[in-house]
Amino acid sequence: MGPGPGNPYPEVTEALGRPLMGHLDPAFLALMDETNERLRSVWRTGNPLTFALSGTGSAGMEAAFVNVVAPGDVVVVGVNGAFGERMCEVARRCGAEVVRVEAPWGQPLDPEQVLAAHPSPAVIAVVHAETSTGVRNDVGCLAHGKGDALLIVDCVTSLGGMPVEIDAWGVDLAYSGTQKCLGVPPGLAPFTVSDRAISRFVERPQSWYLDLSMIADYVSAGSARAYHHTAPIAMVYGLHAGLGVLLDEGLEASWARHAECGEVLQAGLARLGFEPFAAEGHRLAQLTSVVVPPEVLPAGLDEAACRRLLLDRYGIEIGGGLGPVAGKVWRIGLMGHTAQLRNVTLLLAAIEELLSQ
Ligand SMILES: *Cc1c(COP(=O)(O)O)cnc(C)c1O
Repeated sequence: MGPGPGNPYPEVTEALGRPLMGHLDPAFLALMDETNERLRSVWRTGNPLTFALSGTGSAGMEAAFVNVVAPGDVVVVGVNGAFGERMCEVARRCGAEVVRVEAPWGQPLDPEQVLAAHPSPAVIAVVHAETSTGVRNDVGCLAHGKGDALLIVDCVTSLGGMPVEIDAWGVDLAYSGTQKCLGVPPGLAPFTVSDRAISRFVERPQSWYLDLSMIADYVSAGSARAYHHTAPIAMVYGLHAGLGVLLDEGLEASWARHAECGEVLQAGLARLGFEPFAAEGHRLAQLTSVVVPPEVLPAGLDEAACRRLLLDRYGIEIGGGLGPVAGKVWRIGLMGHTAQLRNVTLLLAAIEELLSQ
């Protein structure tokens, strides 16, 4: 039996409880180097500057923009959900002239429209897997037309759960988060930077903590390593272990497991009368979004009350809609260790029982 919902892989739990070491202990530095090596495998990149940023996925987003965007730079951002919106705000705070390319929530971005939005942007930024809508945006076809622009991709919900190919897709800066498809508690942001992006770092980013040129010295292997900040030791243990579990399973096997769970869940929800929210052909397996018709809900209960009952009675937490679809959709994550068929079976049975009460 695999771990239940909410409980990480036993290997990760064990790693989190391991005795701490000093952050400059050679044994810890070796573990950090090995973690970075594992991250290169998971990102499918040879980028030397690949590491786990101390902070959550949002710190990754902020680091990506603050290091390559100077005031006045044109930044094209694809916006079809909450995280694309957040990218615009982060870029704006760097002083960028933000050019938005929008698609309605639930629909994918049109890559040609993203590429045609401006003749010579400094940066093009898109979210690979929009967790707020359950939509996958195409990334692989952006590199051929990016010109001199740097390509920033948010892979917070995609890394580990579906194909991500940093080198093959020509991505310049990408960040993720530990708590989505990597199945590790939140706290670190896996990060990777192409040499091309390094050559374009702004002189003095507005953030000291997220200054990647200083962080590059801190993550460099061997004796050149310079103190920058204290690594969150236990979190690195956890990520190291989680990446080990993922690579032992195999990336392709993990992608297939997520895909199968998503497919079974989406078919089951359709049988129960729920319409998919995300556009066909662009549905994420790791985040299923469905429209909740009020008439399928038990009398006297709204969608939020039903989600609360799922948690209280069955110990299953699912998400509600954000922004314009708040109160209208459910978002169901099957990520990392929670992407198990038995969880899908349990959830579908619980929803069915709830709806028939
Ligand atoms: C969760 C998420 C983030 C933010 O990550 P935090 O760890 O919550 O800071 C950013 N982008 C996407 C697509 C996400 O799903």
